[in-house]
Amino acid sequence: MPVLVSDRLGNVLAANEAALRLLGRPENEVVGAVVDGLIPHQGASPAVPLVVEMREGDGEPTDQRALRDDLTGLPNRRLFQDRLAYLVELARRRQDSFAVCVLDLDRFREVNNTLGYRSGDVILRLVGDRLRETLRASDTVARLGGDEFALLLPGCEDQQDVATVANKIFPALQAPVDVGGREVDVQASMGVALYPHDGDSAEVVLSRAELAMQGAREEAAGYTLFRRHHESAAATFAGGTHLRRAIARDELFLAYQPQLQVADGVVVAAEALVRWRHPQRGLLPPGAFIPLAEQTGQIHGLTLWVLRHALTHARSLSRRGLGLTIAVNLSIRDLQQPNFAAALGELATEFATPPEQLKLEITEGTLMRQPELIIPVLHRLRQMGFGLSIDDFGTGYASLAYLKQLPVTEVKISEAFIEHLATDADDEVIVRSTIDLAHRLGLLVVAEGVRDRRALLKLRERGCDLAQGYLLGRPVPPATLAARLRRTSRSSLPGRRQTARS
Ligand code: C2E
Ligand code: MG
Ligand code: MG
Repeated sequence: MPVLVSDRLGNVLAANEAALRLLGRPENEVVGAVVDGLIPHQGASPAVPLVVEMREGDGEPTDQRALRDDLTGLPNRRLFQDRLAYLVELARRRQDSFAVCVLDLDRFREVNNTLGYRSGDVILRLVGDRLRETLRASDTVARLGGDEFALLLPGCEDQQDVATVANKIFPALQAPVDVGGREVDVQASMGVALYPHDGDSAEVVLSRAELAMQGAREEAAGYTLFRRHHESAAATFAGGTHLRRAIARDELFLAYQPQLQVADGVVVAAEALVRWRHPQRGLLPPGAFIPLAEQTGQIHGLTLWVLRHALTHARSLSRRGLGLTIAVNLSIRDLQQPNFAAALGELATEFATPPEQLKLEITEGTLMRQPELIIPVLHRLRQMGFGLSIDDFGTGYASLAYLKQLPVTEVKISEAFIEHLATDADDEVIVRSTIDLAHRLGLLVVAEGVRDRRALLKLRERGCDLAQGYLLGRPVPPATLAARLRRTSRSSLPGRRQTARS
């Protein structure tokens, strides 16, 4: 039986004769390679009948599934970070250099939305395969989440080496893909950071490769090495001065989009959505500044601003007998703040708002990025009484079964499935089964991006709890929301807040 033995990181420590024969490689090429560099994966399981025994430092076998991305079979973010940390240690001792690359597909969201998530999956798998086939057995190809891949290239030392690798990767990636009879071009942007030139810790090199990737995307450059201006461009635009100044000058404001009970049309909640009235650039949607605020560490200040304002509005509505639940979007950076839950608890007390009146939206993509870090924070927030909602559900590859482990109160089905709900049978099946499962788990279901009546009718048939979308109301200033709540007679009844199912 062909057997490979590896350490926890997947570095091959030993291989028996049968394995060497099966792989068709000499022992010195196999030992020292990474397991996933040797075996082509089809999704989660190896495509060749080879036994891989992965062992911890104490000889205990490891559960490899926790370290792999289900869809592509590649190492996941956790394994990637562990390998990166290990490589930093090794390179420090041996005074070696290596490269870290972050690669993001261009317009992938668009592909997902127009061709459907299954086609998106096909493309992601193919990109994984193409990268894996192009690189060496000692290189790591990982999927960090969504459409983001990362590479670890030991021995890739300078600009010249990076150019050689990029000249292999890009032509391989760009070959058109046939997805259900349609030809799709795969384009990607890649940022590269070199150890130790661009940073001497795992966190710094990885974050600089990410910044370089943004730079490559903005410059439509294909790939680029990290340059100081990537950091400063990001910092001056969204971060540091500008965003702080925007807050100080009162240039930010919140718009509220109502959420209605599907059964009777009563508005029971509203989502706070931030906007920036920029003195030069006009009205900016959150997509124009949130991503950069996240990268430059400024998002937490922004979230606190949003929370204070949302709580002010919630309190003023309650005082007028118009109590409703307010939803606020969080970013992964907020959940990474060590005292976030405590700070939120203090804010709720300061504004005399019961925690149930606030629901915190976390996108599915965020949850899947660092579940081991985020889930404990969610438990804490839930214990404190805050509602927790999974935003953009269905786009981030969390499995439905995974929901059971999460202490959430609500699932918000992504607009991607609601948009064509009335006409697309696949979307209907997805929406129906999401609603059924969520209800069985005692969760409330919100459909977002409801734009047409037929979709709303389908949602009613299927027992969806709440709906939000342009059909039912665009995001509006708090005063307009209050006027709407007053107009709908029933909404001024006290104690009319939605009841959580759990
Ligand atoms: P989201 O949380 O999924 O919010 C829903 C977005 O869909 C909003 O866009 C909303 O205006 C839009 N939308 C609502 N109804 C419809 C519809 O019927 N059709 C279509 N096509 N779109 C609809 P917006 O305001 O541009 O926000 C975009 C994203 O920005 C939000 O997505 C959220 O992820 C993020 N965001 C907004 N405010 C904040 C914030 O205060 N903090 C953080 N961290 N993120 C925020
Ligand atoms: Mg949201
Ligand atoms: Mg959403």
